[in-house]
Amino acid sequence: MARRRQSKGKCSFCQREMTKGGMSSHLSTCAQRPEAASAVSSKRIAEQELFHLQVQGARSSDFWLHLELNGSAKLEDLDDYLRAIWLECCGHLSQFSMGGGRGEEVPQGKRADQVFRSGVELTHIYDFGTPSETLIKVVRVRQGRPLTSHPILLMARNNPLEADCAECGEPASWLCLECLYEASEAGLCTEHAEVHPHQDYGEPVPLVNSPRMGICGYGGPAEAPY
Ligand SMILES: [Zn+2]
Ligand SMILES: [Zn+2]
Ligand SMILES: [Zn+2]
Ligand SMILES: [Zn+2]
Repeated sequence: MARRRQSKGKCSFCQREMTKGGMSSHLSTCAQRPEAASAVSSKRIAEQELFHLQVQGARSSDFWLHLELNGSAKLEDLDDYLRAIWLECCGHLSQFSMGGGRGEEVPQGKRADQVFRSGVELTHIYDFGTPSETLIKVVRVRQGRPLTSHPILLMARNNPLEADCAECGEPASWLCLECLYEASEAGLCTEHAEVHPHQDYGEPVPLVNSPRMGICGYGGPAEAPY
């Protein structure tokens, strides 16, 4: 795998690329975003509080999302979204909590605007056996009409990881976890994944854009549900 640099992603409004932190401030000033807002301003959707959330893997912060969540949405909408884009392998339990990973549980039936305020941070745990922890932070709150008919809008996401096959240098679509944990080149093309000898952590896993990659056999698709 290439040496670690801060992962970049694209702004969904203007297509500019930047890091997670750069994106956090960019999204408040993006010149294209007001246009997106005015396109819906005539529609008959109620104004409400809208929460800009920065979401990242607790142990793998190179995986991140910037979401806008409707105040009228429920936490279970956010749970559904995280499962679809990053987490779902076999229907494990999940939980939101406040005040750290095993802090006070926040019921998923709560509305976003009952839970979130500027500066609030939640932890989401998916699967208590082989957990994936996700940190969710409110970056900004605005009053307005949602830009989508869905509860959540994806404003930005880290670009897919790129790796080369350790054997032949072609673009990798698989990852050997044993090589990864031993900090050697872990990418594999399909041809070399089939004949790769390491078994200690199972077969090579698909290289997907999710912090759950390889955990409990997670292999994607890691796609936004809408
Ligand atoms: Zn932009
Ligand atoms: Zn599972
Ligand atoms: Zn290869
Ligand atoms: Zn290996």
